[in-house]
Amino acid sequence: MKLVSFDGGRVGVRAGDTEVIDITELVPGGHDADWPHSTMPRAIAAFDQIKARLDGSDAPLPRRALADIRLQAPVPRPGQLIALPANYDDHIGEMSSPNRADRNGFFVLSPTSISGPSDPIVLPELEGYRIDHECELAIVVGRPGFRIEAEQALEHIFGYSCLIDMTVRGPQERAMRKSFPSFTPLGPHLVTRDEVSDPDDLRLRLEVNGTVRHDGTTSDMIIGIRDAIVLISAVVPVEPGDVIATGTPAGVAAVGSGDRLRIEVQDVGAMELDVVQGNGGSNVAYAGRAPANVPGG
Ligand code: MN
Repeated sequence: MKLVSFDGGRVGVRAGDTEVIDITELVPGGHDADWPHSTMPRAIAAFDQIKARLDGSDAPLPRRALADIRLQAPVPRPGQLIALPANYDDHIGEMSSPNRADRNGFFVLSPTSISGPSDPIVLPELEGYRIDHECELAIVVGRPGFRIEAEQALEHIFGYSCLIDMTVRGPQERAMRKSFPSFTPLGPHLVTRDEVSDPDDLRLRLEVNGTVRHDGTTSDMIIGIRDAIVLISAVVPVEPGDVIATGTPAGVAAVGSGDRLRIEVQDVGAMELDVVQGNGGSNVAYAGRAPANVPGG
C-alpha cells in the first residue's frame, strides 16, 4: 500500500492513479488538529489494526481525488530524522572524503527540514556557498526498538520513500548545513515494506532539468538496510514514523533557483520539485567562511 499525508495532516491510502481513500477516522485517537503531525506516526503504529478495518466490510470511507488535495511529506514531522553520511564508495570518491559510514556512523538533522511533494525547495541566502542535491532512499520506522539485531531489523521497518538531502558544502556541522526548511523533501508517498522486493537492490535516480545526475543502486551501500537499523538503534531507541536517510550515490551537483529536480526510486515512486531562491539564513558561522573549492560533481 501507498500511504500519504494531505491537507493538514490527514492520512490516506492511494487507490489507483487518481484517488486517495481518507483513513484518518480509523487512526486511534483520530485527527489532532492541535498537533496534526502526530496523525501519521499514530497511523503507522496502529496500521495492522487499521488495515484489518480497511479490508473489512465497514461503511465505505471517503475518497478524494488526488487533483483536489494537497500532498504533504508522508511523515511531515518525524520524531527523529537520522542520516548516514558517506554510505556509497563512489560518492566518497567524488568528494575526496575521509569519511565512511562504517567508521563515522550516523548524524541527526532537524525534522523541520522535511518538506513534501507539493513544496518547492527554498534556497537560503548564503554568499559564495554551493548547495547540492543528494538522492537517497528513506527508511520509515514502523515498530519501536532499541538495540535491534540484524535478523529482526526488517520487522521494525514500516516502509520506504524518496528523499532528497539538500546540502550546503562547507566546514560547518552537517546538521546546520542540511537543516534549512525544505532541505529534506520526502515523498510522494510511503510504500509499505511488503511492496519492495529487496530494499538492498533498488535503482535510484535524480534528474535536474531532465539531465540525469544520480543513477545508482542501493546494492552499493556500505551500510545496508538491516545494518542501518542495527547501527542506529544501538545508540537511540527508534519509534514509529522515524525517518532514516540512507546516503547518496555519486552525482552530487549544485542547484540554483529555477531548477526542477526529479527523484525516482525503484518500487517506491517518483516526485518532481522546483527550486526557488529565498531570503536570509546566514549566520556568524557561515559569514566569510565559504570554501574556495568544493570537490565533487
Ligand atoms: Mn546525504
